[in-house]
Amino acid sequence: MRFLSGIQPSGNITLGNYIGAVKQFVKLQDHPDFTDFMVFVADLHAITVPQDRQALKKNIRSLVAIYLACGLDPSKVHIFIQSEVSEHAELAWVLECNSYIGELERMTQYKDKKAKQTEGVSAGLLTYPSLMAADILLYDADCVPVGQDQKQHLELTRTLAERFNNKYGETFVVPKPFIAPSGAKIMSLTDPTKKMSKSDPNPKAFISLLDDINIIRKKIKSAVTDLDAKVAFDPENKPGISNLLTILSCCTDTKIEDLVKKYENSNYATFKEDVANAVVNEIEPIQKKYNELINSPIIDEVLDQGRDYAKYLARKKISKVYNKVGLGRKR
Ligand code: ATP
Ligand code: MG
Repeated sequence: MRFLSGIQPSGNITLGNYIGAVKQFVKLQDHPDFTDFMVFVADLHAITVPQDRQALKKNIRSLVAIYLACGLDPSKVHIFIQSEVSEHAELAWVLECNSYIGELERMTQYKDKKAKQTEGVSAGLLTYPSLMAADILLYDADCVPVGQDQKQHLELTRTLAERFNNKYGETFVVPKPFIAPSGAKIMSLTDPTKKMSKSDPNPKAFISLLDDINIIRKKIKSAVTDLDAKVAFDPENKPGISNLLTILSCCTDTKIEDLVKKYENSNYATFKEDVANAVVNEIEPIQKKYNELINSPIIDEVLDQGRDYAKYLARKKISKVYNKVGLGRKR
């Protein structure tokens, strides 16, 4: 089975990305079912909204260092940058030509991100899911772990794969979604009804894995909760406290119901203090490794190997696709 996933270098990676994605990858990299494990930096996706050139370059390298610092092992995982394998963009175009505007306009992420744009909405924001489908289908990835927020895009990927296979003959493997049972969606600290996002303009809304430790503690202490002063898990009526419970549960590998029992007579201040300690315990060693890695040549070595491997697979697939569609010269 081939595993594939990516994260956009659209900011500093958050606790949400870590719990919902990277921490899962690290656990899964040793799973015997996977013969192949690929994790990339989705830089082409990042430019669907405006990015500063310098910041983007910095975030790309930083994300690779984070992957390694979190424990992805380059002897088991192929790590690469999406834009260095041009076949992603090539297949995305073919899939865009097989996607309907109506189905793209229905995507929640498109609607959410469109609402936030002040300087015009790029066509790329609309066709984002066709590029994501290309990322997956290019490698015949059969296992794609996605957080709740990307589930809709994965369903569209399946639709596009089936549509293409029906129209042009068997070409793509239809991928299965893999959603972690708990901690799949971490919410914003300032508005716990919205998901935590690294591109949120308000830095208090998210915890970055690279935030100063004292800032992390402050952000958790000032996380929006409610007035009821009882630690209980009720995402509907107590989204803030429920989110902190989820975070604590994921950082300590403890069941939410056990935590609810433990804190039933605690006040919010004590509870938040424990959440802050758990998050700091998880993040501090990652930061230490990150600082050792960020300026080391290991990053480029890992990326060169990852690119060569990805390119080899991608080239074969795109030739097959172009041939089926009738592009280029007769062979
Ligand atoms: P952006 O705001 O730029 O979209 P993001 O924080 O949503 O950034 P992505 O790069 O879109 O991050 O997603 C990377 C991975 O992290 C995906 O697998 C996604 O499902 C997961 N993810 C994103 N946000 C969360 C969250 N709040 N909780 C859990 N997982 C998340
Ligand atoms: Mg996102």
